[in-house]
Amino acid sequence: MAFSHGSNSAVSLPSHGLQGIDALFAGAGLVRSRRGKLASRHQAQRLDRAQPEELRHSAPAPSVAANGVRWLPISPWRKFSWLSSGFSTRLGGMSHAYCFEDAPGELNLGFTPEDSREAVEANRRLLVEAITGDASTPLLTLRQFHSNLVVRATAADAASERPRKADGVITDEPGFLLAVQTADCIPVLVADRRLRAVGAFHAGWRGTVKRIVEIGVGRMRLEFGSRPEDLVAAIGPGIGPCCYAVGEEVFSEFESQFTYGRELFREVYDSDPIRIKYPMLFLTQRAPGHSPIGPSLHVDLIEANRRQLLACGVHAKAIQVIGGCTQCRSELFFSYRGSRGHTGRLMAVIGVRTRRSPAPTPKAK
Ligand SMILES: [Zn+2]
Repeated sequence: MAFSHGSNSAVSLPSHGLQGIDALFAGAGLVRSRRGKLASRHQAQRLDRAQPEELRHSAPAPSVAANGVRWLPISPWRKFSWLSSGFSTRLGGMSHAYCFEDAPGELNLGFTPEDSREAVEANRRLLVEAITGDASTPLLTLRQFHSNLVVRATAADAASERPRKADGVITDEPGFLLAVQTADCIPVLVADRRLRAVGAFHAGWRGTVKRIVEIGVGRMRLEFGSRPEDLVAAIGPGIGPCCYAVGEEVFSEFESQFTYGRELFREVYDSDPIRIKYPMLFLTQRAPGHSPIGPSLHVDLIEANRRQLLACGVHAKAIQVIGGCTQCRSELFFSYRGSRGHTGRLMAVIGVRTRRSPAPTPKAK
């Protein structure tokens, strides 16, 4: 975004005027915009502005399981005795790959290069035990690749060692948990109260643009006969609009795909006191004459996925937004951006209980 704001006047200039400006910019080692357009598209009609604090969703206090795992239940779903579900945090586990050696162990749930397989497997058993009461409940994970591919899973898939390649999974079979892994992306869980079917979806910005949640709900209708009015959904912790700065290309994708695309974006002003006090330190990144404390473009993926659920016919009251930004709350969550890629993985899980596995009752060991 070399030409990120204050550029409206350039639109009406004749082409020779623009060439002159281009020459000036080139002389200063700058380009007028990434794709050589008149101006960035979000300038034509101004976006709402905000400060990061205004966009922050606070995280709920985690529940503490008997085995020490801190996790986030979906409170209104506790009444569904047939359903297991929840979101992990980074607290309570066996990993030391992303913390000091003498710190309490953490709950990394992804087979990341830095962590040991044994620690991650132990952590997965701890999470499953915290949520279902039985550490041996099979956990079905995916090989995620930022697609909109949704697969239907059976108990045989859950027993398999080889995860399937997809970003969404649905089932109506009991006895195992579906899982998606995230570290900033948005996890979305869906349950059909009438038919006792469930789905888990991984929605980063690419998956969101490709409508993974709409496709996932569509698959539940097709495979199980789910009616939107019977569905409940939960949007878990991910990177919030407070932190998720993106480039123009992300804006263009959303604006071209969704009628409400523009509403998902804000121009966010840095409220960092150091930048405000010492603007000269940050001046070199900006075009001449532009404010050193310029806006960045932030997208709200939580709202984007809520809109997709609404578009499918899920009732607004049936959608729970759990809250918590993975980047703001790095002591509670793993954040890929917040840790520059050196981080563990969170998990969102959902499953249909077998008749013989009642919900765990919290008790001290
Ligand atoms: Zn944040």
